[in-house]
Amino acid sequence: MATRSSKPSPGRPLAVYRAMRDFSSTPEPDGKAPRRAGKERFFCVQKHLASHLHYDVRLEHRGVLLSWAVPKGPSLDPHDKRLAMKVEDHPFDYGEFEGVIPSGYGAGIVMLWDRGRWHPESEDIDAALERGELKFSLDGYKLKGSWVLVRTGRDGDARTWLLIKHRDEWAGAVDIVGFAPLSVKSEGDFEHILAAEQPSLWHSDRPARGGIAGSMFTEIIAKAARLRAAREAGTKAKSVKPVKRQKMHKGPARADAKTSAARRSPPRPRRTV
Ligand code: MN
Repeated sequence: MATRSSKPSPGRPLAVYRAMRDFSSTPEPDGKAPRRAGKERFFCVQKHLASHLHYDVRLEHRGVLLSWAVPKGPSLDPHDKRLAMKVEDHPFDYGEFEGVIPSGYGAGIVMLWDRGRWHPESEDIDAALERGELKFSLDGYKLKGSWVLVRTGRDGDARTWLLIKHRDEWAGAVDIVGFAPLSVKSEGDFEHILAAEQPSLWHSDRPARGGIAGSMFTEIIAKAARLRAAREAGTKAKSVKPVKRQKMHKGPARADAKTSAARRSPPRPRRTV
C-alpha cells in the first residue's frame, strides 16, 4: 500500500504514480496511452500480492483510475466495513494490467480479479470525494449492486476510507474473495501468472519473507516452478517426438474444471434480512 499523499493534482494527474515507479524495470503501464473515449465508467479490482496481500479497487474518473487498497478485499456482507486506503491515482490502461512486478514499488504479483462498469449515485463525483462519501453501483463479474466508500480519517490522515456493501439483492453472506479467487482475465491463480514469467525471479530477494504473504510467496513460487517445469518438459517431449500422430484425448475433466471454476459467476446471495 502506498504511504504517500494522494491529493489530487489536476495539472499532472499521474505525477505521484510516475514518481513512485521506474518504468525501465516494471511492466506496469506508464500511463502515456490516451484514455479511450466512451461514456461508460470502467472499474476493476486487482488482487495484489506484495509485502501484504490486498485488493486494489479502482474507479475510472476524469481519465484516470481513483484507487483504494483494501487489505481484506470487498465483502458482500453489509455488516462488514472494509478498510480502504486511498492511494495514488493510476493510469486508465492500468485497469487491464495483470502480471509480475519484479522489483521496486509494489513488487509482487498482480491479478485482475474483477472488472466491469461503475455508476456514481450522485452527479458530482468530485463533490462526493471532497465530502468523503461516494455512493456508487458496480456491474462487474463478481461484484454487483450498490456500495459506498466513506472517508473516516481526520484531517491528518485523509487516506483512511471504508468500503461497505449496501443492502440490496446482491448483498449476502457469501465470502466472495474465497469463493471466486481467480483471475477474470487469464482465469488462473497467482502461480499461473508467475509461471508465465520466471518463477525463480525472487530466489534470493522475494517481496515478502515472513508472515502470511511470505508463506504465500513460498508456496506460489514452488507451484509456479512446477507448472513451468511441466510445460518445458512437455515442450521438450514434443520436440523429441514430433511425428507422434496419436491425438491427445481431450477429456472434459481437468482443463475445463479450472475454466469453469474461474468462469463460474458467484451464486446470487440470499438476502440477509
Ligand atoms: Mn497494490
